[in-house]
Amino acid sequence: MAMDTLIKNAQLVIPEQGVVRACLGIKDGSIQGIYQDEASLEADQIIDAGEKYILPGALDPHVHLGFAGPFDEHFTTETASSAIGGVTTIIHHHFLAGRYADLNKVVELGESRSHVDFAFHIMLVSEESLADIKTYVQDFGVRSFKIFMGYKGQEAKQVGLPRDIDDGFLFSALEEVGKHPGTVTCIHAENNELIATLKQRLMDAGRDDLPAWEEARPGFAEAENVQRALYFSQITGCPVYFVHMSAADSVKKLAQYKAEGVSAYGETCSHYLTHTKDAPLGNLGKVNPPLRTEKDVEAMWEGLRSGVIDTVASDHGGFLSKKKEGDIWSAMPGFPGVATILPVLLSEGVNRGRISIQKVAEVSSCNTAKIFGLYPRKGTISVGSDADLVMVDMDLEKTVTPELLGSMSDFTIYDGWKLKGWPVLTMVRGEVVMKDGQIVGGAGKGKYVRWLSEKDSFKMGATEKCLRSINKPSKPWRT
Ligand SMILES: [Zn+2]
Repeated sequence: MAMDTLIKNAQLVIPEQGVVRACLGIKDGSIQGIYQDEASLEADQIIDAGEKYILPGALDPHVHLGFAGPFDEHFTTETASSAIGGVTTIIHHHFLAGRYADLNKVVELGESRSHVDFAFHIMLVSEESLADIKTYVQDFGVRSFKIFMGYKGQEAKQVGLPRDIDDGFLFSALEEVGKHPGTVTCIHAENNELIATLKQRLMDAGRDDLPAWEEARPGFAEAENVQRALYFSQITGCPVYFVHMSAADSVKKLAQYKAEGVSAYGETCSHYLTHTKDAPLGNLGKVNPPLRTEKDVEAMWEGLRSGVIDTVASDHGGFLSKKKEGDIWSAMPGFPGVATILPVLLSEGVNRGRISIQKVAEVSSCNTAKIFGLYPRKGTISVGSDADLVMVDMDLEKTVTPELLGSMSDFTIYDGWKLKGWPVLTMVRGEVVMKDGQIVGGAGKGKYVRWLSEKDSFKMGATEKCLRSINKPSKPWRT
């Protein structure tokens, strides 16, 4: 039987296994087989990987479409940026509000506009949203919910929350989400009462600089909330996932509770692996939680190596730099990042000897797919999995510019950085969507990805089985 596509001379980075030199057959959007050589195989299209690594397409579990920009257009522009960065599935943090309150309509919009696949975290913002959890799980295959812990008063209004998020609401939310096996609550952990006090002191002192943003939101303000949510998670039994962990102390708390058996997961973002508060970025570097210190940066890398931190995301916001005007206190927090997750992990991680290429596949794809119920359809290279793939050139060096990344945004915190190691081909369900940094084909190919239930039937463990049938890995990664 002829396949649609055959990728030959590839170094497959299989997260559960390591690096395997093999050919990959693709048919009808799925991986048909992993083969030792191509001699007896037929395909309509042959791609010669030339011994480059092929990883499972990255999943970015932290993307904000429509944040400080147009939601509809973002579905196209920011997913183009995703494809350029080798990201084949995004999970968007969705506010159910106004014309975007009807999730059917949002799915329709996404499928007509997106370049890559997508899923949602649903924001829990009110009693009504807690009552609707069951509907989102059962009717939409939503697997994850998001809470802005401790947002109150003015701060709550700024991010569009109709009520304060106090501990009572957090606890009720964990109870509710916890009733649905397999779901997870994503938590933005920062102690805003503490931050309000510290911020006022710095404003009174006339501070207006990027380090002041960090001093107003110190690492212990994050770690304190992380600790509290972990304890509530232990009491309620609801798994928790900490978005954008930035502080060394938070990683320590997470490690303690993980060791006690609490179902808790940690995400960091690429910017916490590369930047400190002393970066010469001014307001462009303003983000929540803030960029911190060298010690925190090192703790994030160590967290990835030790497995305490499970995933790397972007916290992507594809908006314009004019939103960054004003003083540090009034500028918009956040920046784009979906296209630079893999280049950062490859350049600053693998090429600098901090992590292995296999670890990159774990933290950018496999762990994320597992935590959010998309594995093994997504997150690995196995027979039956979606053919979501990214080919990377470890020797390719590029100087980052906003234009290179294809976002609507006109800035990037990596502007001028030379990064070595880039995606050169991105494939979504067997179709090439990016080649040599350029988008291939039109938008509207992305599909909404529902949570995989037990019913979704292709067999787990297929990877292992087919790997037994081929030779030993020819070039395993070594330290
Ligand atoms: Zn975010």
